[in-house]
Order: sequence, then structure tokens, then C-alpha cells
Amino acid sequence: MVERTLVLVKPDAVKRQLTGRIVERFENAGLKIVGMKMIWVDDNFAKKHYREDDIAKRHGETVWKNLLKFIVEGPVVAFVLEGNDVIEVVRKICGPTEPKSAQPGTIRGDFAHHSYSSADAGQKAIRNVVHSSANKDDAKLEIALWFLEKELHTYKSVQDFCMY
Ligand code: ADP
Repeated sequence: MVERTLVLVKPDAVKRQLTGRIVERFENAGLKIVGMKMIWVDDNFAKKHYREDDIAKRHGETVWKNLLKFIVEGPVVAFVLEGNDVIEVVRKICGPTEPKSAQPGTIRGDFAHHSYSSADAGQKAIRNVVHSSANKDDAKLEIALWFLEKELHTYKSVQDFCMY
């Protein structure tokens, strides 16, 4: 089923000049970029993306606060990808949350090595290069938060002619 999902190149990766190499991974897999921008969010916006009732509930108040600091420490590159089962496919391409445990070949496994223990020791959010929506409900909410409808485009890519 054709879906859309939100991806962020997080501030650590933007500063490391990895944006092009990260975007390339998704294009290589045939996923279609339907919207894209660079944005430096403020604390209020960060709290809408990383909601207290989600992150603090799952990981605790300290992780939530550290995560809020992380996401505002520089600009992020936000984009929306479209494709078959794109939410699941993009999560697979990104790899699991902890870069140390992420397999080589995934974005987090190839471009980072930060661990939960080093994040905790440094009192920082785990610096894991990318964000991607976790499920259909999150994708819907996150795309609406980061993009106006007019910033998202419907067009045919080579995939539409060759694959579907
Ligand atoms: P994901 O980004 O893989 O979907 P979560 O939604 O569970 O993961 O967490 C959001 C972000 O919070 C993670 O990407 C990571 O940057 C940070 N994070 C999660 N758990 C921890 C932790 N135990 N210590 C530090 N940072 C964490």
C-alpha cells in the first residue's frame, strides 16, 4: 500500500555534512521525495514533535529533556517520503534506535556508533543521525506538523513507470 512517512536528518548529521549521503539511501531504494526543507525548530515545536506523553512515558523524563535539547541544537533537514509500505521500509533502512546495535548497511549502523550507556553517561540523547515515523498514526501527525499541504507534491517518478 502506498504510504507517506516523515524523515528528519537530525542536527548531529546535518553538522557532520551527511545529508546527501542519507537522502541517497532512500532514493536508492526507489522511495519518492514529495516534500523537503531545512528548519531550525524552537523548544515549543520540539515539544510538539517529541511529546512528553510519548517519550517521557516510554523512556523517562530525563531522556525526554535531553532529546528536546538535541533536536534544537542545530537545523534539521525534514522530508516526506512516499512508497509502498514506506513507514516500515524506512525504519528498516534507518536501523534500530541505538547505533551501537544497528547492523552495518543501515544508516544508524553505518554513520554512528553512540550507545545507550554513553548517552546516559554524557547526559545526552542518543545521537542517532535520523528520525523516521514509527507507525501510520505518527506519520500522519508528524507530516501535518512539519509540512503544509501545499509543500507536498504529487508527481510521477521513474518508479511509477517501472515498478507499480
Ligand atoms: P526512534 O527514534 O528509534 O523511533 P524512540 O522514539 O524510542 O526511538 O526515541 C526517540 C529518540 O530518543 C531516539 O531516536 C533517541 O535519539 C532518543 N532516545 C531514546 N531512548 C534513549 C535513551 N535511553 N537514552 C538516550 N536517548 C534516547
